[in-house]
Amino acid sequence: MALMAEPQSQPRPASTTLRARFCPRCATELSERDVEGKLLPACGACDFIAYRDPKVVAVAVLSDGPGGTVWLIRRGIEPRLGEWALPGGYVDYDEHPRAAAERECHEELGCRVEIDRLVGVHHANLVTAGVVIVAYAGRIVSGTPRACPEVLEVRRFGLDELPPLAFATHSAIVREWQRGPEAAPAP
Ligand SMILES: [Zn+2]
Repeated sequence: MALMAEPQSQPRPASTTLRARFCPRCATELSERDVEGKLLPACGACDFIAYRDPKVVAVAVLSDGPGGTVWLIRRGIEPRLGEWALPGGYVDYDEHPRAAAERECHEELGCRVEIDRLVGVHHANLVTAGVVIVAYAGRIVSGTPRACPEVLEVRRFGLDELPPLAFATHSAIVREWQRGPEAAPAP
């Protein structure tokens, strides 16, 4: 199945790409301070430090069973516009990563999914931010996958016909998923 939608390229910088300039507590202009070997914006008036936390992303390998086909989305937004990837996205501050994976799959494929297990936790150092990727295995429980806003195309691939993926971590996650739950690390 392959359904098309119009491209929508709207780069949305992760919040950690924005360098704090003023103290959110007392509005004093921040200056850089060495904090345990890292230069971070810090407040000289109230000791606030603008730590750079990683962004958390949840993704899912949606399949019809071990060794079966895997659903991928073709990205309709930057970065990596037009490339294939696992469905997923940023975890909200008040959300369990597992719930975020289910929500993002619903937003990107238009169907309800259930998460079965944790596949693994990965980390990527991007130019703009550090990203922690929590990867799950799941399956579609209702609805028919279709392209949605921010997604150009959705398609199911056999394991021997997987296209190159937009992110190296996604390729590693699919390989990890293929090895099965016995090989998975502890949560
Ligand atoms: Zn301050």
